[in-house]
Amino acid sequence: MCETVCGNRVLGRESAGLPWVRVSPASVFPALEPLLPRVSKPVQYVGGELNAQAKPWDAAAVHWALMYPDAYEVGLPNQGVMILYEVLNERADALAERCYAVWPDLEALMREHGVPSFTVDQHHPVGAFDLLGVSFSTELGYTNLLTTLDLAGIPLHARDRDESHPVVVAGGHAAFNPEPIADFVDVAVLGDGEEVVGDITDVVREWKTSGTDRRELLRRLANTAGCYVPALYEVSYDTEITGVTPVDGAPATVQKRTTTDLDEWPYPKAPLVPLAETVHERASVEIFRGCTRGCRFCQAGMITRPVRERSLEGIGAMVDSAVRSSGFDEVGLLSLSSADHSEIADITKGLADRYEGTNTSLSLPSTRVDAFNIDLANEISRNGRRSGLTFAPEGGSERIRKVINKMVSEEDLIRTVSEAFAQGWRQVKLYFMCGLPTEEDEDVLEIAGMAHRVIQAGRAASGRNDVRCTISIGGFVPKPHTPFQWAAQAHPDVVDARLRKLREAVNSNRKLGKNIGMRYHDGQPSLIEGLLARGDRRVGAVIERVWREGGRFDGWSEHFSYDRWVSAAAAELEPLGVSLDWFTTRERGESEILPWDHLDSGLERDWLWTDWQDALSEREQDDCRWTPCFDCGVCPSTGTDIEVGPSGTTLIPLTVLNPVGRELGA
Ligand code: SF4
Repeated sequence: MCETVCGNRVLGRESAGLPWVRVSPASVFPALEPLLPRVSKPVQYVGGELNAQAKPWDAAAVHWALMYPDAYEVGLPNQGVMILYEVLNERADALAERCYAVWPDLEALMREHGVPSFTVDQHHPVGAFDLLGVSFSTELGYTNLLTTLDLAGIPLHARDRDESHPVVVAGGHAAFNPEPIADFVDVAVLGDGEEVVGDITDVVREWKTSGTDRRELLRRLANTAGCYVPALYEVSYDTEITGVTPVDGAPATVQKRTTTDLDEWPYPKAPLVPLAETVHERASVEIFRGCTRGCRFCQAGMITRPVRERSLEGIGAMVDSAVRSSGFDEVGLLSLSSADHSEIADITKGLADRYEGTNTSLSLPSTRVDAFNIDLANEISRNGRRSGLTFAPEGGSERIRKVINKMVSEEDLIRTVSEAFAQGWRQVKLYFMCGLPTEEDEDVLEIAGMAHRVIQAGRAASGRNDVRCTISIGGFVPKPHTPFQWAAQAHPDVVDARLRKLREAVNSNRKLGKNIGMRYHDGQPSLIEGLLARGDRRVGAVIERVWREGGRFDGWSEHFSYDRWVSAAAAELEPLGVSLDWFTTRERGESEILPWDHLDSGLERDWLWTDWQDALSEREQDDCRWTPCFDCGVCPSTGTDIEVGPSGTTLIPLTVLNPVGRELGA
């Protein structure tokens, strides 16, 4: 019998040409349990949350381990993982279990005691699954993938894996340039996951009965829409990339998947309720996907086009299902810019009516100044706390806001916050970025003036002195598939110096400055994120070296080591004639082949280049929801169209839950 054993993983067949069979693995919990009293927050590793699922292993033909490559407290609320977990488990032929990155204290004990990577649902060893799907929201999770692979006994390099190993599938926004992790993943999935996970399941199920080898499986996956198999593309270099050549029948380009008619995909239906503290403790309902505002820095907006709204009826049903199944007392109405839903006023009023007098409150985690109005804010807070309003002007000066296409005037902002302060709000939070293309010190220093005027307007409107404004500033990272993909990233020294001057400018007026809080992260992690975001396959060796030298949880400031990344980049890149600076602070030319050019987000490259030139000329671009199409390319290339209301539906008719008992709906 041909057989491979790793931990509890057993896969084999009697001889070539016969089906691959996975034997039901034993739980690793008996080995894990004695270690748990010795680690921090052990409850995060035990599973059994409300709405968790535990299907019988043998009933499924295809087994998925779904990983969020960060700690449980960050990973559990992730919507992408929750959606795929439900979608897959609804299939009779599939089983999905979750896993998260283990903290270094448990990692050390697992190595000492030979405990492999495990899922939290049934503590099956990750190596026993057919597929390991990893959702990357941020590139700084790459080193955590390597820890999981290594602890699972899965070879780090895809080329060293055989039929007995899981297929490692990367998804999420970072997968739109998976080249830095091309050595470590078998497949990268571009775009929405709801449908493609089903297609991959079909391919793997059929392959398992075919008796063919892993290469054949990769070939089949490479010809599945939305799936990119890096091993089937050869990349040549001469400092810059000179060519990307598909081999073995792989397509020349891979196009993203786009799920249309979101009402058909009302997931998650039953959100997971965490056992341990997590970053968000609320149910989330995605009210639309995509954004065509055209903010030039925003990768999420660009790669999720076009806009697809859920109907009021669909949203009402999802909120009801989420609240009933989870017992959460807060529902977040999620999207990239929630106040932009064409029926947002009806949604918020309807939901506020429905839950008035109950413990259920609403939140709009992402809003824009110009779409937001105080009626909306009042509806949202009717049943909850008035903790503060958050807006994201992103740029301090009018000029830089034209460069980034964030069409928010200071006048709009001041008018909105004045109204909010007049109606009893006491605090606003403003988000900005530093290090934007063409940015000078003056652009950043204007943030101080804006914050001062917010305090003055707030005092005038409220008649009180205790109004507060917090400015929160992040370092800008140019991302693939955006008009800024060609831009030079600012060096951390430049960003840090500008932020020091900004702090001085905020405090130059002590009477106003004392009511202004300032939060920022130093620029060094942003530079590394930039390396990983726009890197090519040569960056894989840097990731591996950092990981071998102890790099873990790079998204956490207490674990991140800039020096470790800088020295690994010098060791691995400079012998090849490139460097950390080459990948980050260098502006690219129009004709340069970018590492992700063969991965199609739907956006025309020419359109992106023109938009980049418009940015440099400080020319703005409208939102195609309300103006004629400006030919970004997404709708024709993906066979989709914008899907916006009015939907002609109402919230599902439910009895209002409060004692007054008004009727809602049709
Ligand atoms: S193709 Fe036109 S309508 Fe579709 S997202 Fe692009 S600009 Fe908007």
